[in-house]
Amino acid sequence: MNTGNREKTEGNGRPEGEKSHFIRQIIEADIASGKYSGRVVTRFPPEPNGYLHIGHAKSICLNFGLARQYRGRCHLRFDDTNPMKENVEYVDSIKEDVRWLGFDWDDHEYFASDYFDRLYEYALELIRSGNAYVDSLSPDQIREYRGTLSEPGKESPYRNRSVEESLELFEKMRQGEFAEGECVLRAKIDMSSPNIVMRDPTLYRIRRMSHHRTVDKWCIYPMYDFAHCLSDSMEGITHSLCTLEFENNRELYDWILAKLDVYHPQQIEFARLNLSNTVLSKRRLIHLVEGGYVDGWDDPRMPTISGFRRRGYTPASIRDFCERIGVARRDSMVDLALLEHCVREDLNKNAMRVMGVLRPLKVVIENYPEDETETLTAINNPEDQSMGTRDVPFSRVIYIERGDFMEDPPKKFFRLAPGREVRLRYAYFIRCTDVIRDESGGIVELRCTYDPETRGGDAPDGRKVKSTLHWVAASHAVQGTVRLYDHLFTVENPAEKKDAMAFLNQESLEVLTGCMLEPELEHAAAGQRYQFERLGYFYADHKDSAPGRPVFNRIVTLRDTWAKIQKTQKKIS
Ligand code: ATP
Ligand code: MG
Repeated sequence: MNTGNREKTEGNGRPEGEKSHFIRQIIEADIASGKYSGRVVTRFPPEPNGYLHIGHAKSICLNFGLARQYRGRCHLRFDDTNPMKENVEYVDSIKEDVRWLGFDWDDHEYFASDYFDRLYEYALELIRSGNAYVDSLSPDQIREYRGTLSEPGKESPYRNRSVEESLELFEKMRQGEFAEGECVLRAKIDMSSPNIVMRDPTLYRIRRMSHHRTVDKWCIYPMYDFAHCLSDSMEGITHSLCTLEFENNRELYDWILAKLDVYHPQQIEFARLNLSNTVLSKRRLIHLVEGGYVDGWDDPRMPTISGFRRRGYTPASIRDFCERIGVARRDSMVDLALLEHCVREDLNKNAMRVMGVLRPLKVVIENYPEDETETLTAINNPEDQSMGTRDVPFSRVIYIERGDFMEDPPKKFFRLAPGREVRLRYAYFIRCTDVIRDESGGIVELRCTYDPETRGGDAPDGRKVKSTLHWVAASHAVQGTVRLYDHLFTVENPAEKKDAMAFLNQESLEVLTGCMLEPELEHAAAGQRYQFERLGYFYADHKDSAPGRPVFNRIVTLRDTWAKIQKTQKKIS
C-alpha cells in the first residue's frame, strides 16, 4: 500500500503520524502479556444487504489496518444470517470496495452461512445443557413479556419445558413443521436482568425463504448475536471490534461462548462515524436509491465507497481521513469538510493542473493576428517539478469564465471589466475594450487587446494587474460536460430528522454542457484526475467519459473550509 511518507515507522512499529488510541493500547498490552500468544486476528463482518459507506470504511481501515500493523490477519466475513435482504450483487460490491480501499484478505473469506451446520449443533448443545428452550409464545407476546427498562420481564410459560421436548420441537422447526413466528429458540438466561438483551434472547427463528447461498436447505436461521460470537470463535478471532450500539450485546456474546466452553475472543466497542450533511444508515441509503432520488449506489453524491470512487476520491485520501478521525468511545459528528480536506491534500500533490472554462464567454483579441496560433508553456504541477510542463495553444479568439467579467464591478471585484487589464495564465496581459450584446441585451462577446511585451505573464515595465484568469483557445478547445455537486442534504444531521427526505438538497447536482477545455483533455483517460485551475479537482468519469467527449465530475472545490475552521479555532484558543 502506498501511504507516502507514513511508511517510516517509530520504535513501537507504528507508522509515523498514526496516533495511538485505546484499541491499539489494548492490543499492545495483549501482545506484551502473551494473551492469544501474541496473535492479532480481526475481521470485517458486513451484512450483504447494501453497498458499503464511509462508516464501513472506518471499520475496514481499523480492522485491516490493525492486522497489517501488528502482522496479524483480517478476515472478510459476510454476516448473511438474514435471507430477507441479502444478495450476491452486494457481496460482489463489498469485495470490490474493500480491495479498492487497498486491503486484502488473502483466502480468509468466510460466510456465516457456511457455519449453519455447526451453529445448529451448538444450539442443540445449549438445549441439552438446559441453557436454551423452544418458546411457543407469539412474537407479540414475547415482546410484551420482555418488560421495559424500568420493569423486569415475565417468564414464558414454555420456559420450563423439558430438554427432550425442546429438542423435539427444535428438530420440527428445522423440518419445516411450523409457520414463521409460531415458535423460536431462546437462550434461558434471566427475565429480570437489568440488561434487556439478557432477557432470554432469541437464538433461532423460522424464515420460510430461500437463502442466496444455502438456498432451501434451511428454514430456521440463527440470530446475529448467536452467529456472530460463534463465528468469531470458530475463526480464532482475537479482537472483535464493533460499534457502540453493541455494548449491551457484549454480555450475551460472553455468555454464549462461556456456556459452550469454546475459544473466547474479546469484543471491543468503538464509536461509529457520523458525517455531516449526509446519512449513513443502509435503510436510508436504500431509500435514496430505490426512490430514484439519486442515480444508483455509485451516484457521486452518495456517501458510499462506490459513490466516492465515482466522484473521484482516492483510496489514499479515504484512508488518511479514517486515520485522522481516530477511534474513540464517544459518538460524534465529523465535518464533511475534513474528508474533503484529505482529498485536496492528496490531489494537490499528485493531480496535473490544466485549464478548463465551465461557462464560456468568447473573447476576441483584436490586435492579435487572424490566423496565427502560438504555443505557450504551462507547468503541470508547481508542487512537483518532476511532473514537467506542457504546450498550450493561444490564438486570437479565446474563452474565459463568464463569472470573471463584470460590466459594472463592485469594489472588491478585481477580475476583468471594461477598460481594465488582467493576466491570462501563462500567456499575456489583456485589456477589455468593448462589450458585444445580442438583441435581448445579453453579453455574448468581449473585445480586448493584448500586450505582446507581456508574453509568459509578466510586464517588462513592472506594471501589475490584480488578477490572473484561466482561459482556453477557441481554435483548439475540446468540448466537454462537467458535473458539479453539492451536499445531498441541507442540514448537518439529517439522520436525526423524522422526515430526513424533506431536507434533501434539490440543487445537489448541476450539469454543464458545452464547457471548453484545453486540448490536453481531449484524450483524458477515464479515471484520470486533474486540477482545473481556480475551479477545483475533476475526475474523468469512469462510466460516462470517452475519448473526444470527456465527462468530468467535480471531486471537490479548491476552497478549503476545513483549513479555515482550524485557523479560526487556533485564533480563539
Ligand atoms: P447500517 O447501520 O448502516 O445499516 P450496519 O452496522 O448494519 O450498517 P454492517 O454491514 O452490519 O452494517 O456493518 C459491518 C461493520 O461495519 C460492522 O462491524 C459495523 O459495526 C461497521 N459499521 C457500520 N457502520 C459504521 C459506522 N458508521 N462507523 C463505523 N463502523 C461502522
Ligand atoms: Mg449490522
